[in-house]
Amino acid sequence: MDRRGWDQLDVLFVSGDAYVDHPAFGVPLLARLLEAEGYRVGILAQPDWRDPQAMQAMGRPRLFAAVSAGAMDSMVNHYTAAKKLRRNDAYTPGGRSGARPNRAVIAYTAALKGAFKGLPVVIGGIEASLRRLAHYDYWSDSVRRSLLVDSKASLLLYGMAETALLELTRRLAAGEALETIRDLRGSALLCGQRPDEGVELPAFEIVVDDTEAFGEAFRLAAGETNPYCARPLLQRHGARWLLVNPPPLPLDQARLDRLYALPFQRRPHSDYSETIPAFEQIRHSVTSHRGCCGGCAFCAIAQHQGKFIQSRSEQSICQEVQRLAADDGFRGTVSDVGGPSANMYGMRCGNAEARRQCRRDGCLFPEPCPHLQADDRAAVHLLKRLRAIKGVRHLFIASGVRLDLLEKQPRYQRQLIADHVSGLLKVAPEALCEELTRIMRKPGPAVFEAFLARFREQSQRCGKRQSVVPYLIAGHPGSTLEHMVETALLLRRLGLQVEQVQEFTPTPGTLSSCLYHTGCDPFSGEPVHVPRSDRERRLQKALLLSHLPENRSAVREALRRCGRESDGALLFVGGQATEQRPTRQRRGRALDRGRGKA
Ligand code: SF4
Repeated sequence: MDRRGWDQLDVLFVSGDAYVDHPAFGVPLLARLLEAEGYRVGILAQPDWRDPQAMQAMGRPRLFAAVSAGAMDSMVNHYTAAKKLRRNDAYTPGGRSGARPNRAVIAYTAALKGAFKGLPVVIGGIEASLRRLAHYDYWSDSVRRSLLVDSKASLLLYGMAETALLELTRRLAAGEALETIRDLRGSALLCGQRPDEGVELPAFEIVVDDTEAFGEAFRLAAGETNPYCARPLLQRHGARWLLVNPPPLPLDQARLDRLYALPFQRRPHSDYSETIPAFEQIRHSVTSHRGCCGGCAFCAIAQHQGKFIQSRSEQSICQEVQRLAADDGFRGTVSDVGGPSANMYGMRCGNAEARRQCRRDGCLFPEPCPHLQADDRAAVHLLKRLRAIKGVRHLFIASGVRLDLLEKQPRYQRQLIADHVSGLLKVAPEALCEELTRIMRKPGPAVFEAFLARFREQSQRCGKRQSVVPYLIAGHPGSTLEHMVETALLLRRLGLQVEQVQEFTPTPGTLSSCLYHTGCDPFSGEPVHVPRSDRERRLQKALLLSHLPENRSAVREALRRCGRESDGALLFVGGQATEQRPTRQRRGRALDRGRGKA
C-alpha cells in the first residue's frame, strides 16, 4: 500500500488459504478482477483470527470486507472422514495444519466485526456457498442454520462470484447502502419480512429435527439451480427470512478469457519461504473450462460451479501455456489441461429453449440428454495446438474423465491414450456395482469395463505400457458389504488394483449428504442403507483394498458377515495377476497429482 501510495483499501479480502497469485485460487482471482476495474484491493491471507491487530494490518477498508474459508470447506480441510484431525493442509506453506480456524467463515467474520465496528462483511467461497441454506453438518452431526445467520455477515455470495462481486462493489462505490441491495444474482440475504416471491422451503426450525422436511427442502432447492429459470428460494430462520436469489449466469467466453488474462504473477507471495503443496500440484497445469454436467451425488464442484460448461477460447489457453513454457521452473511438462471433468471442454447444451426450462441436475444421468453437444472436435483441436507450443515436450491429462461421455468421444479418447497419459490414467468410477452407481448418479460398471478394454487395446496398439487406476468410495449411502465384495471380485477379474479408496465424507449441501442424514432418497422417497458405524466403513474399505496383506483379517470378517467365506479363495489367491504397472517413479508422480485433484 505504501509503495502504491494508497492510504486506504476499497475492499479487504480475508482468506483461509495462503496467498498464491494464480487464477486457480479464488480469492486472488477476484482480487485481480476488482483491481483491474480500478479498485484498491488487499488480501489478508491466513491472518491470526484471535488477534484484532492482525485483522487491522491494512486498516479499515472503505467499502467492505470479503471473507472466504479458502478453496475447501474448513471442516473438510481439517478432519478426516473418521473425524480425526488431519496433520497436513495443502493450502498452507510447509503443508502445516492449524493456520486457519474451524468454521473459518464464522471466525473471520467475527474477528473483522471486532476489529472494525459497523464494517459490512460479505462472505463467499465454497464453505459459504454450500452452507447457504439450513444444512446437515457431519462434524456436529446436526442440521445447522444458514451460514449467513451463524456468521452474522451482511451478505452471502454463492457460486462463482465474479459478476456478483463486481456489481456489488460498483453499487456500493456509487453510494448505495448494502441493506438495499436485494436483487443480486448469486446472493443470499436476510429479510425482516417474507419476500413476496419465491419458493418457500420448510423453515430451519422444522428441518432441524424432521428428516422428511429436510429431504423436501433439498428437493425443492435442487429444482431451482438453473440460472435461466430458477426462482428465488425462501427459508424462515426464527423471525427472519433467508432469501436466496437465483444463481449467477454463466460467464461467456470473452469474459472468462479476460479473467485468465489478468496480470497474475503465478507464484506464492514472496513472504513465504516454504513451498505450498497445492500450488506445487497446479503450477504447471491449466484450467480449460469451468462447470460439470455430470451431476454426481457426492460432488460439491458442480454445486458450486454449476452444470453449464464455460470454456475458455483456444487462444486464451494457448497464451497461458506459452507463458508457462517461458517460466524459469518449467521443464517441458504441462501436468494437466482440464476442469472438474477433463473431457467436457467445448461442450454445451444445443437447444436454447430446452436449456431455458431445464430442471435436470446434470446432463448425463440417468441417460445423456439428447440436447447435449458432446462433440470432441474442440478438445482434440485444443490438445493438438497445445502440443505444438515451443518448449512443451509432454502434455498430460490428470483431471478425471467422465467415462460415459468418453464413449461418445472416440477421437479424444484415442488422443488421450496415445499422447496424454503419464503412465497411469486416473479414472473415478467411484463404485463398480449398478445399484450403487445409480445412487451416486455415475455410469455403471459396464461402461467402466468397456472403457478398460478399449484403453488396454489402444495402449497396446500404440506400444505404451500404461495402466488405469480406478478411484473408489467406501461407505457411501446405499453401499453395503455385499456391494463391496462384488466390487472386490470384479477388480480381481479385471486384474486391477485400487491405489486409493476415499472414505465417504458427507460434505454440506450435496445430495449424498442429504441421503446420509435422512436415510432416504429425497426424489424417489426410497429408503437407503447408510453405513454409519466406523467398523462397517472400515470393512468396506478393506474389501476394496483386499490385495493388501494388512487387510486380510478385516476382509475375512467382512466375508463372514455376508456369509461369503467361500469367496475368500478368489480374493486372496484365485484372482488373475494384476497388470504390469509402470515404474515406481512414474507411479509416484501420477498419484501425487491424483491426490491434489481429489
Ligand atoms: S436440456 Fe439437456 S443438455 Fe440442455 S441443460 Fe438440460 S440436461 Fe443439459
